[in-house]
Amino acid sequence: MRIFISGPSGVGKSTIIRELLKRNKDLILSVSYTTRPPRPREVDGKDYFFISRQAFKDMQQKQMFLECACVHDHLYGTSLPWVKTKEDQGFSVLFDIDVQGVMMVKKSSDIGCFIFIVPPSLEELSKRLQKRGTEASKDFTLRLKNATTELGYWENYDYIVVNDKLERAIDDAQSIINAYRCSRKQAIKGLKWLREIG
Ligand code: ADP
Ligand code: 5GP
Repeated sequence: MRIFISGPSGVGKSTIIRELLKRNKDLILSVSYTTRPPRPREVDGKDYFFISRQAFKDMQQKQMFLECACVHDHLYGTSLPWVKTKEDQGFSVLFDIDVQGVMMVKKSSDIGCFIFIVPPSLEELSKRLQKRGTEASKDFTLRLKNATTELGYWENYDYIVVNDKLERAIDDAQSIINAYRCSRKQAIKGLKWLREIG
């Protein structure tokens, strides 16, 4: 099962995902490759694989990315071998990727659950991004400017979760995952005996 989560920077994706990972032991977060410098407390191999532009281009040339995109002036990509390894181990994979990445994934296959997280308002988004305080002022302005463009992609998602009250937003995301797990196409994968009936 593949769950894709997108939304503008600062909307609360990481916060929601952290809780979903605690609640769903069969879920694992795809660790992306990026050329963005690490933030304080970010760990290489856990939050991201932090690599140079050259190393990223090499991976791109070897077609190692399920999808990749330039976001806020940095390159980000999902490693296909990494995802396949985790799926072979029995995990469902959660992806925190931007709108361009989702468009790229959907071009090759529409299989997956696509969730869009939106803020209650643009003002609130700006406050959250400021509160997090991880960006220099130039990057903060860029992220806020890009937010409006990103929000315009809402039509490409199956579900929209408004992250107003955090607990409710987490419950909404959890309900979507539960429903997707029970969807006919997903559920039947684990029911060989039922498939054999007809
Ligand atoms: P993203 O991963 O989408 O960039 P984060 O998860 O880092 O966003 O959240 C950005 C900031 O907003 C963090 O300081 C987080 O604690 C805060 N935050 C997340 N959800 C809410 C919410 N529902 N109400 C208020 N603050 C929130
Ligand atoms: P951040 O720098 O705040 O960690 O992430 C910035 C943006 O990049 C977020 O919107 C996040 O969803 C997106 N992102 C992270 N990893 C990937 C990836 O592998 N591919 C794509 N397309 N976007 C990613």
